[in-house]
Amino acid sequence: MELESDRGGIAASVKVRKDGKPHQFLTAVTKVSRPERVSITRWQLGMVAAHQECELCHTELSREHAIACSGVMGDMEFARMAAAVPPAERMGKTELDMVINHAAEEMTPECAAVLVRVIDMIEVRCRKRERTEQGFWR
Ligand SMILES: [Zn+2]
Repeated sequence: MELESDRGGIAASVKVRKDGKPHQFLTAVTKVSRPERVSITRWQLGMVAAHQECELCHTELSREHAIACSGVMGDMEFARMAAAVPPAERMGKTELDMVINHAAEEMTPECAAVLVRVIDMIEVRCRKRERTEQGFWR
């Protein structure tokens, strides 16, 4: 993983608390479930959109491409959440990063559910992944 360059967009995409502690949604403090935290963290670390080939259109799957190509902005709940982030608090390369960073301090289970749904859309559409009935990716 290239941490030095901004190729994966990690440095520009993950907000770090000033005190250096992990965000609450990453810990057991919140009611966000562990599978949901894993899903959101995978996106943040660039493990979903990792500049591999997009399975849908065969161009490079960057974070920005994942948002545009998967059509997640068509998810009205997510689009509303993205629009609700005040301009001064928009941090991250994409709407998804902005919403995660904005919600990070106190992420509600409702917010996490929408984020996971959006990330799943990207996994399914741009990566052609399928969830098993147990909830694992094939
Ligand atoms: Zn694509």
